[in-house]
Amino acid sequence: MMKKYNFCAGPAPLSPEVYQKAAEALENFNDTGLSILEISHRSDAFLSILADCNKWVLELLSLENKGYQVLFLQGSASMEFARVPLNLLKTQAGYIDTGVWAQKAINEARKVGQVKIVASSEDKNYSYIPQGYHLPEQIDYLHCTSNNTIYGTQMNNFPDTNAPLVCDMSSDIFSRKLDFSQFGLIYAGAQKNISTSGLSVVIIHESLLSENVNIPNVLSYKQHFQHNGLYHTPPVFAVYLTWLNLQWLIQQGGVEAMEKINRQKAAMLYQEIDNNYLFFGTAQKQDRSLMNVCFRLVDENLSTQFDRFIESKNITGIQGHRYVGGYRVSLYNAVTLSDVEYLITCLKEFATEQS
Ligand code: PMP
Repeated sequence: MMKKYNFCAGPAPLSPEVYQKAAEALENFNDTGLSILEISHRSDAFLSILADCNKWVLELLSLENKGYQVLFLQGSASMEFARVPLNLLKTQAGYIDTGVWAQKAINEARKVGQVKIVASSEDKNYSYIPQGYHLPEQIDYLHCTSNNTIYGTQMNNFPDTNAPLVCDMSSDIFSRKLDFSQFGLIYAGAQKNISTSGLSVVIIHESLLSENVNIPNVLSYKQHFQHNGLYHTPPVFAVYLTWLNLQWLIQQGGVEAMEKINRQKAAMLYQEIDNNYLFFGTAQKQDRSLMNVCFRLVDENLSTQFDRFIESKNITGIQGHRYVGGYRVSLYNAVTLSDVEYLITCLKEFATEQS
């Protein structure tokens, strides 16, 4: 079969090696004669996978021995939009509004308590990251979105606050080095840089697990923690895929090595978008995302032709989010430099055809 170049925003591609190993485990997991789909989540084999995943997540984020716990939960980032306020919001929480996903998080928090929008970039269609805002004193936590998948903007620095910082890292976790210890809670839907959909990864500081909250057990971080992540059946296959993908990530040299390549990929593509007379980038330059490159055609009348051209080149997944239109190329960890080089060659070819 011809190689497909997939730049989908999510669910997003993982490395072919990961797919291959996952496919083998579907038929015969570790030579047990059983599929990974039919082993007990309480078996030694699965407990060891879960323990490795815990350890590797903390190692990759340099959070070992700093009081963080990792939970692999059934759900998605949207589930955490609800779980975060249910667990942490007592009176008022601060939220930074940088787009649709932040707004969805805000709407869920409003059902639980008061929400103070600390800053917003809605005035310019979320094309930038707000800076220089005032932080209220009395908040239970401050919520931000490190990478705005729909608008292609990314936070490069995070507010200095005494309140626990909660971050939705669904679309850029494991893609770059940060001081992760500045966050009280990090969460991510798994279907981009981690694994597959149906799983949320939550990294939470123990100080946020101390209180009992009167909410259903399945929504309580403390319950999941107290049951060592086995309060109920975790998404076994998604966790196994996480195990494979974290191993792949470690083999690549970890987050630091990944960041180096991710910066190269993004720089090359932005350069092409800026130099190619047919396109323009939509995010403000200083806040451009390394993960989601959003752009539009200068002449929208060319869109049908461009779409056909892209399809003929076996490129897929570059349509912009339905709320904003245009195009979006996602450059998650498994997208290679040569995939991006190929795409750039195609963009140049299209420009030559039009001239
Ligand atoms: N937050 C961010 C930053 C996202 O990119 C997405 C989805 N792509 C979500 C939240 C929602 O994720 P889910 O559909 O898994 O709930």
